[in-house]
Amino acid sequence: MPEEISETLPACRCGHNRHSKAVDREAEYSLVGWFLLSFGLTARPKRIKFRCRECGRLFDATTAPEWLARET
Ligand SMILES: [Zn+2]
Repeated sequence: MPEEISETLPACRCGHNRHSKAVDREAEYSLVGWFLLSFGLTARPKRIKFRCRECGRLFDATTAPEWLARET
């Protein structure tokens, strides 16, 4: 996984970024992805959204393959 400089990443008002433990990852699937999931198959999400557990804010999203691969 390429190095990311944490200061350049979007963060919520609590100061959490996508690498924080206080952040939940929400996978977003394409229609085809939902179709596969409904049959119990695995699908790779098209996007990962990052939501802070403390303030509840969605503050970041990525389509980077290294993040998508973590959800499959
Ligand atoms: Zn927050």
